[in-house]
Amino acid sequence: MGGVRTKVLYIIGWGRSGSTILDNVLGQLDGFFSTGEMHYVWDHLERRRPCGCGQPIDRCPVWSRVVAEVLDRDGRRGLEAADIVRWQRISMRLRHTPRLMRREPARLAEDAPLALYANVTSRLYNAIGRISGARVIVDSTKRPPDAALLRLLPGIDAYILHLIRDPRAVAHSWQRRRPQLDRPTEMDRYSSFSSSINWLAWNVAAELICRQIGREKSLSVRYEDFVAQPLETVARIASLVGERPARLPFIDRATVQLVANHSVAGNPGRFRSGRPVPLRLDSEWETRQRLLDRATASAVSLPLLARYGYRLRTRLGGRAPAQ
Ligand SMILES: [Zn+2]
Repeated sequence: MGGVRTKVLYIIGWGRSGSTILDNVLGQLDGFFSTGEMHYVWDHLERRRPCGCGQPIDRCPVWSRVVAEVLDRDGRRGLEAADIVRWQRISMRLRHTPRLMRREPARLAEDAPLALYANVTSRLYNAIGRISGARVIVDSTKRPPDAALLRLLPGIDAYILHLIRDPRAVAHSWQRRRPQLDRPTEMDRYSSFSSSINWLAWNVAAELICRQIGREKSLSVRYEDFVAQPLETVARIASLVGERPARLPFIDRATVQLVANHSVAGNPGRFRSGRPVPLRLDSEWETRQRLLDRATASAVSLPLLARYGYRLRTRLGGRAPAQ
């Protein structure tokens, strides 16, 4: 029969799709633990960046135990976070996604850095499950190669949540200046064209990875639907991983209670906690986005726009759409 495998619910999708708040909500469900963007835990451990709880990762009550266990158990050599970051650079770049999808689990050992990284990542998920006591680990890394890797991890029961948001709203969000709370620099910014090309590529990759893992283990959710129907959407996501939470972290249908979390990386929103946050669509783009930026985002994302139910024509300058 084997033991109970750790369930991992991996959120895939292009940045600024609303994963931080969804991740915080899912992390509050009974039996769930959210890691934030787990891919970056080793890099942030090295750079002593804070966990969502405010402590550096090696002082956080959860992560200090998790990383100590994973690094120590590698045996005589004594594994360093820098080694793992190096394996990520060799094996886990975006361009490696197709190769990861084709890789046979039985032949993983032929690619040494990838095999080492898969082993560490499997142990990391299992250590988080054991130490947090959670049945489901939510990883909002969002990157396609990490999603493609899940299939190759021993002892992991993987599920993929594909999060989609209107590419015009996403492009607008990437153009805003935003400070980062865990380092002095601002968050990266992308032009409307770059954001939309990435939106298209990451969503195509997400579709292929969902198809590979199968319909019973994957789910696509639009951020707009999560905001419109948060309770129903969260219940659907929980049922994907076989959970029926008794309580959902909403004060009412439009307000979520954010709590302290242990997300190791992600959007600055992960540091918001202890207060109610209204769930509403940020529709600033509908009135403030430059026409050229909006047209660019619509044109580039056109191949998937209708598939996700987004209209090509959008409101301009707050006016009603032309009939
Ligand atoms: Zn923490």
